[in-house]
Amino acid sequence: MSEFVYISGKLCAKEDAKISVFDHGLLYGDGVFEGIRSYAGKVFQLQQHIERLYQSARAIHLEIPINQAEMADAIHETLAANKLSDAYIRVIITRGAGSLGLDINRTSHPQVIIITDHIQLYPKELYDSGLDIVTAATIRNHPNAIDPRIKSLNYLNNILAKIEGARAGCVEALMLNHKGEVAECTGDNIFAVHDRTILTPPLDAGILEGITRNAVLDLAVEAGYPVDVRAMTRHDLLTADECFLTGTAAEVIPVVRLDGRTIGNGKPGPVFRDLLERFHSITGK
Ligand code: PMP
Repeated sequence: MSEFVYISGKLCAKEDAKISVFDHGLLYGDGVFEGIRSYAGKVFQLQQHIERLYQSARAIHLEIPINQAEMADAIHETLAANKLSDAYIRVIITRGAGSLGLDINRTSHPQVIIITDHIQLYPKELYDSGLDIVTAATIRNHPNAIDPRIKSLNYLNNILAKIEGARAGCVEALMLNHKGEVAECTGDNIFAVHDRTILTPPLDAGILEGITRNAVLDLAVEAGYPVDVRAMTRHDLLTADECFLTGTAAEVIPVVRLDGRTIGNGKPGPVFRDLLERFHSITGK
């Protein structure tokens, strides 16, 4: 755990890093966040993460009190203070302290919090054996309620799906959207491979626009794989040659079973392996 946490312009010792119990981030999940990673001292896709953070904030009428360049500086400053080079970076913007009502006009200033920590990885064996996942009964947020493109502090529906996965002995769970189509996993985007064609659901399926998803789509195009971003059902996953997930912490990780059915030959496939290697080459890992 890092020693220093950045809170609204100041680096505080971890023990002193506190915010008000009246903060609407705590009271209502009213805020946005980012999960970012640095590899050997270089923050991966920092600008893309910062842009997504500011877009998420905009979508919930939250004005981040510092500009994007200041945010990048604050992230670098926090990493340096904690002497971390391979790190997980959590940026949180809360609405700020207010009254017990919902009214945002009665809140004070939004708080900017940056926590850096050692990265918590899935065990290495899972990259060799592949994940076993289940479909959760809890669906992803309806885009007209809270659009999943907003990385808001309200992750309750993903948490409920994650609990369902854990109860079934799985580290991830598939979430469908309100139409019954494939959306994403609780903290990762999902892909299928059919005859070398790479399929993944579109943004309007109700998913987070993963930064790793975008990087992997670019790598897939560069490598010459046909890419088909389209609405998908569970059938597309169950009949796939390969399936894999993407996310900041997971990078690219294979899935070999869904709801007790084996995907492909039950082993991580060549397209996954190729893309993971290409992904490592852009992170410098
Ligand atoms: N979907 C959800 C719901 C997520 O929370 C995340 C981030 N952990 C992702 C997908 C992957 O996004 P990224 O590649 O930007 O980490």
